[in-house]
Amino acid sequence: MSKKEIHDNLMIVEKKIQIACRKAERAPEEVQLIAVSKTMPVSVLLEAYECGCRHFGENKVQELVEKYEQMPKDIKWHMIGHLQRNKVKYIIDKVALIHSVDSLKLAEEISKEAVKKNVIAHILIEVNIAQEETKFGVAKDEAAALIESIAKLPSIKVEGLMTIAPYVENPEENRRYFAGLRQLSVDIMEKNNDNVNMNVLSMGMTGDYEVAVEEGATYARVGTGIFGSRHYNG
Ligand SMILES: *Cc1c(COP(=O)(O)O)cnc(C)c1O
Repeated sequence: MSKKEIHDNLMIVEKKIQIACRKAERAPEEVQLIAVSKTMPVSVLLEAYECGCRHFGENKVQELVEKYEQMPKDIKWHMIGHLQRNKVKYIIDKVALIHSVDSLKLAEEISKEAVKKNVIAHILIEVNIAQEETKFGVAKDEAAALIESIAKLPSIKVEGLMTIAPYVENPEENRRYFAGLRQLSVDIMEKNNDNVNMNVLSMGMTGDYEVAVEEGATYARVGTGIFGSRHYNG
């Protein structure tokens, strides 16, 4: 993918986000696009950077750390993939936001490492809103209790919710899930926990980000729509 293609793709995605915002009577500034750069080489990330991207999403710890070392330092890195407890220490002082917290044990490890490194860890709770068996994420009914426990831990701050919606042909099928995540965030906000914000909704990928933005997404995580399809080795 050439820099021009990445540039053109970014323009298209940003435009579609604007249109979705207008439709939902939202301010476009409320929505931040995350360029999901997993599997892409640093050279390609640099092209996106030169096109103005400052938010990058990665789903593997080692890949995130390698890219972090090589890329400019004004980037906000988003950990969007399943996170193993023993790897928290490698990213705790490198990421702006961890999107994929779905257990108290993981949150405890994040809190412990954040205290050690003297940082505040900003996290989202991943919710398995469509109750898919194959997906990570806490069940919708268990999210509030999990958040209440996490809120008591030091050096960790819950900023909102994240979900990965089912793969569907027609993005309209996911509208109810995005609306459901938003409603859940409203319900949790009403509980008024210290250390809990519900300002962030991370939802929507290449296939469904417009619907997600219409339903309140504040981060859209788009990979293929910017970088083209991914080629996995092995
Ligand atoms: C890969 C990935 C994305 C981006 O997927 P695309 O369909 O390529 O836009 C978004 N969120 C998560 C958690 C991912 O793993």
